Amino acid sequence: MEDYPRTQAEFEARFVTEAACWAYLTRVRWPEGFRCPVCGGAKAWPVRAVLWQCAGCGRQTSVTAGTIFQDTRTPLTIWFRAMWCVTSSKTGTSALALKQVLGLGSYQTAWTWLHKLRRAMIRPGRDRLAGRVEVDETFVGGGAAQGRSTATKALVVVAAEEVGRGIGRIRMRRIPDGKAKTLQAFIDDVIEPGSEVHTDGWDGYERVKTRYHHRVSFLRGHPAVATELLPRVHRVVALLKRWLLGTHQGAVSHAHLDYYLDEFTFRFNRRTSRHRGKLFFRLVQQAVAIEPVPYRRLVQPGARPRRRRHNRLGSPE
Ligand SMILES: [Zn+2]
Repeated sequence: MEDYPRTQAEFEARFVTEAACWAYLTRVRWPEGFRCPVCGGAKAWPVRAVLWQCAGCGRQTSVTAGTIFQDTRTPLTIWFRAMWCVTSSKTGTSALALKQVLGLGSYQTAWTWLHKLRRAMIRPGRDRLAGRVEVDETFVGGGAAQGRSTATKALVVVAAEEVGRGIGRIRMRRIPDGKAKTLQAFIDDVIEPGSEVHTDGWDGYERVKTRYHHRVSFLRGHPAVATELLPRVHRVVALLKRWLLGTHQGAVSHAHLDYYLDEFTFRFNRRTSRHRGKLFFRLVQQAVAIEPVPYRRLVQPGARPRRRRHNRLGSPE
């Protein structure tokens, strides 16, 4: 099923009611019909519009159980507008813009939504890159200093498939250092073994040859040459930096850079989609396929939950 609105007008006409949104979520979540998450049974009857009861084990399952929409008190029509807003513009949207478009009460609400949606952009178990792949690391950001978090730059490693003279799919990740262990873990995660991996002569890439064909182009430390010899990675990095500065005005803290990298990757890998509606469809598809994230974990990713502190996204408020 690849059923999605083609235009703004189609979107507006279609998702006017909660029932329409529920029906759409149901079809995206269970394209081949209901599946019980407990017993795998396919027979069920609706208890309410949003709730199904398994005929086999009796368990009741909501369409939104286990998804980012679980426990939401916001009407789905608003969620749908948020997802359309995020996917229909080529560059994405900032929390401030989303707040204005949807008429949300607070910047924080808009920000939380954006981050929930960004989480949905990381597809669980997505395919690995293959063929010939350029890999290089770069420093990103600086961004706005917030409280005590120092505004140093973050190290990001980028992989880009070579497709003729152009770029295929990409992957990127924020990394703590450029050591072999770190870089190799990224490469193993995102690139199919046996592919050709193209890097510079940095020691951190010394283990690449154990699982890949390793092409080394030049010695470390000549940035002008790097741009020329690993042109795809560096074109991606330039676009990433422009996007962070443009759409987000550089107001991206280190702690949240991962989410932005995921959103950028999501957009980049679908840049040739003829219909923006297709991105909307993918986002809905991935949104119903992941676990919900409490706000606390969005605020302090990977850290012990604490009360709000300095690490929020650079808020103009
Ligand atoms: Zn069941």
